[in-house]
Amino acid sequence: MERQVFNFSAGPAMMPAAVLERAKDEIRSVGGIGMSVMEISHRSRHFAAILEGAEQGLRDLLQVPDNFRVLFLQGGASLQFSMIPMNFIAPGETADYIITGFWGRKALAEARRCGDINVIYDSTADGCKTTPEQSDLNINPDARYLHYVANETIEGVEFKYDVDGMGVPVVCDMSSNIMSKPINWDKYAVVYNGAQKNIGPSGIAVVFMRDDMFDRIRGEHHTLLDYRAIRDNDSMANTPNTWAIYMVGLVCDWLKDQGGVEAMEQRNIEKAALLYNAIDNSDGYFTGHAARNVRSNMNVSFHLPTPELDAQFCREAESIGLDGLAGHRSLGGVRASIYNAMPRQGVESLVDFMHDFAQKNG
Ligand SMILES: *Cc1c(COP(=O)(O)O)cnc(C)c1O
Repeated sequence: MERQVFNFSAGPAMMPAAVLERAKDEIRSVGGIGMSVMEISHRSRHFAAILEGAEQGLRDLLQVPDNFRVLFLQGGASLQFSMIPMNFIAPGETADYIITGFWGRKALAEARRCGDINVIYDSTADGCKTTPEQSDLNINPDARYLHYVANETIEGVEFKYDVDGMGVPVVCDMSSNIMSKPINWDKYAVVYNGAQKNIGPSGIAVVFMRDDMFDRIRGEHHTLLDYRAIRDNDSMANTPNTWAIYMVGLVCDWLKDQGGVEAMEQRNIEKAALLYNAIDNSDGYFTGHAARNVRSNMNVSFHLPTPELDAQFCREAESIGLDGLAGHRSLGGVRASIYNAMPRQGVESLVDFMHDFAQKNG
């Protein structure tokens, strides 16, 4: 048996051990058919069942309403940064963006290629530690959509409410907190995510799009960049990432065994509280990045008194099996990503280590 490692990487992130074991068991013969999921045609009935199972798993867990389509696309969440404005903004039209961190800025940069974007909130100058209140938001009634990032993965800043578009369709990047809690679908027109944080392997995006949004698409686009073509071809306008879709299905099965996203939410709140308490009770040795009222339950970003101590902390943690703790290159410091697959025991080990490290190096 190999040493137990807890992987705190932001993504690709830890997968549930039970899911990896099942994938191992089925690697040569998926569903007992004598062939690997990686070698069967995406047009085969075997794969059709896998695709349907993955979609149904997502629908069941997240209670996705019938008037939303579930699309599997390639190119990760980042391609959605481009596809959203390409599909929904025609020349001369505009959209509203809320910027609360690194990924929101990435999305904005792509949208600006398509139109004159209104930034209606931007916390960049203050280091992205906050989210706006609904009453801070001056939404333009003629915006084609309003875009925001529900959980900024690098800064560890999470919206604690669903933004209301006030009649403007809301498009939300939930890459790093999807499946961590239920979704209030009434508030959203499009929800998308890159799978590698909380749903499965990297390389695919899952897009939930309300039916009426397809009618709002402007102009003609290359097939693979047009949501209508993806919908009309049941996510198989070309060969999809069959392996990743299969893994999404396994993760959904596992989540159902765990009691669903409501049960995960409760556990996620508890896990995050362990870490934030360790930060708050360290007499200032550890400093959290996010403002307290918007602390992420998925990504806990903090720093030590000096960058040298940050590095030493991550090095020593790694040597005892606490991996992937270095903060993103743009922010530095330490970041513990504690998605659904991170067991409470992993978080407890990290809390113990934080305590010991502060004692020794304080
Ligand atoms: C990781 C991440 C992305 C980028 O995902 P890719 O699949 O690498 O394109 C976008 N948005 C958020 C919030 C993320 O956490």
